[in-house]
Amino acid sequence: MTDTGTTETDPFWQEQIALHVANRGKHAAPSACGTCRGRTANGETVEHDGCARKATLIEAPDMPNWELLIEMTEQEKADLPARFHIPHFDDCGKPNVWLCAVCWGDGWVTGWPCATAMKHGTKVFTPQHDTEREQKQQQDEVTRLRAEVAELHTKLAVREQQLTDMDAAVIA
Ligand SMILES: [Zn+2]
Ligand SMILES: [Zn+2]
Repeated sequence: MTDTGTTETDPFWQEQIALHVANRGKHAAPSACGTCRGRTANGETVEHDGCARKATLIEAPDMPNWELLIEMTEQEKADLPARFHIPHFDDCGKPNVWLCAVCWGDGWVTGWPCATAMKHGTKVFTPQHDTEREQKQQQDEVTRLRAEVAELHTKLAVREQQLTDMDAAVIA
C-alpha cells in the first residue's frame, strides 16, 4: 500500500476533518431556538444545523427597487454597477434556481451569476476582511480627531486664562 498523501488517506487530515465536524455549529443564528442558543452560550454546538449562523448576504444600500427595475431595458440592467448583480434564490419557480437580483423583467429571468457578475467577479461583493479593515481605518480616524479636539480645548483654555490674566492686570 502506498501513501498518496491525499485527504482520503492522510490520518492527520482525517483527524482534522473529524475535529471540524465535531466542533462546527458553535455560533447560533439570531433566529436559533432556545435550546441551541443555550448550548452555544455554554460553548457547545447547536442541536439543529438550521440554528447555526450562516453567511450573510447584505444588499448594497443604493440597490434599485423593483419598480425602477421593471422600467429599465435589459441593456440598462446589464450595465448597472456590478454590486447590484447579487444572487437571489427563487424558491417558488420550478426548478428552484439562483437568479440575478437585477437581471430580470416582465416574463424573463437570468440565472446567477449573470454575464455582468461573471465579468466583474470580485467587484460584486466586499470580503469581510476588507469591511473590517475599513471599520478599523474609520475608528483610527475618529480617535485622531478626538485627540485633535482635546488639544484644541486645552489651547483654548490656556488662551482664556491669558485673557483673564490680562483683564486682571488692566483693572489693577
Ligand atoms: Zn435549534
Ligand atoms: Zn445581473
